[in-house]
Amino acid sequence: MRHRIAVVGGGPAGLTFARVLHRHDHPVTILERDPAPDARPPGGTLDLHEGLGQLALEKAGLLAEFQALSRPEGQAMRILDTAGTVLRDWRPDPDDRANPEIDRGQLRDLLLGPLDVRWGRGVTKVVPGTRDGVLVYFADGGQETFDLVVGADGAWSRIRPAVSSVTPHYTGVTAMETSLDDVDARHPHLARLIGDGSLAVYGMNRSLVAQRNSGGHVKVYARFRAPLDWHTNLDLADAEAVRSSLLALYDGWAAPVLDLLHGTAFVHRPLYVLPVTHTWTHVFGVTLLGDAAHLMPPLGVGANLAMLEGAELAETIATGPEDLDKAVRAFEEQMWVRAGRWAKITTAGLERLVSPDPAEALAHFDQVQPS
Ligand SMILES: Cc1cc2nc3c(=O)[nH]c(=O)nc-3n(C[C@H](O)[C@H](O)[C@H](O)COP(=O)(O)OP(=O)(O)OC[C@H]3O[C@@H](n4cnc5c(N)ncnc54)[C@H](O)[C@@H]3O)c2cc1C
Repeated sequence: MRHRIAVVGGGPAGLTFARVLHRHDHPVTILERDPAPDARPPGGTLDLHEGLGQLALEKAGLLAEFQALSRPEGQAMRILDTAGTVLRDWRPDPDDRANPEIDRGQLRDLLLGPLDVRWGRGVTKVVPGTRDGVLVYFADGGQETFDLVVGADGAWSRIRPAVSSVTPHYTGVTAMETSLDDVDARHPHLARLIGDGSLAVYGMNRSLVAQRNSGGHVKVYARFRAPLDWHTNLDLADAEAVRSSLLALYDGWAAPVLDLLHGTAFVHRPLYVLPVTHTWTHVFGVTLLGDAAHLMPPLGVGANLAMLEGAELAETIATGPEDLDKAVRAFEEQMWVRAGRWAKITTAGLERLVSPDPAEALAHFDQVQPS
């Protein structure tokens, strides 16, 4: 029997879920709020881990295409102190494929492939338990009913309230994101400083991280501990004003490091998380994937987990028990355990990486990075 399944959100979780169902010839309706795939800048690079994001791509039959697109050299990681001294300069072996990087836009296009997404279909809420199934309400006033609605709509999920009353809370760490284009030609000194992968500089309660994307594009994240209203007297749309404010915050750091803040626009990203353990009493016809289920500090696993969950739920539905609800329940139990483990690790990681003692950040790096 073919169930009426909808996934809300066309991010890494929702697209992987849909792509694996598609591989098993199982129909799925993909509802995405954005009006088009390129309606927003896709964001920075993602490293996909062998046992997580890459496993999901294998389940989707896309691993070989990923390997052709991804950048293994992007795994390189350099750590500096605030004076600009190189403390660690880790480079992968030429055949190391453990965590290669891929631009988010490339990953999205890879997953999209033949999928038929309903763009511009923002969902406002779902009501489970109606006579005909789960009722989905759209922002344009429309309604539709499904047997299963999968909420893969990210941090501020509109599906989550159907299963849980929990909302994300602020971690106390904010990120200001900027970017540099054509870095090899226009900022060769920064290109050399960053190398092939990522650069991180850790100071007291602050860090600066630069990540090379493809095509000479670099994303820079200034992360610091601050109250949520730290920018009350600052116009966040005024790049010069934001830069001055950040330069004051990073006062005393080496000039070449501060040159990373020369982007022309800044995006404000206060870091929110869900509780480390986020479970719920199972609700017939509704479940969550990815950030909607377990938003955690952005330390390199969120998209990986989102994708693996999407792939696993799709496989369970396509090949598992006839009873759809039983399949979803089994999936949830498995997701909660793994996500809880990673939420604990990333929460502790954020504490160490944006810490009063920069030595903690270096110790963290030495623990997680193969030498
Ligand atoms: C700066 C930064 C760097 C990161 N780096 C990494 C990394 O290197 N590796 C890694 O694994 N993770 C990383 N992450 C985490 C990763 O981005 C997320 O965990 C991942 O994107 C979650 O995927 P998702 O599909 O669950 O949600 P999202 O990526 O948030 O996708 C949700 C989708 O749902 C859509 N949507 C939202 N609301 C609605 C609605 N009401 N109706 C319909 N559609 C809706 C959105 O438009 C979006 O397309 C990083 C995060 C940040 C902020």
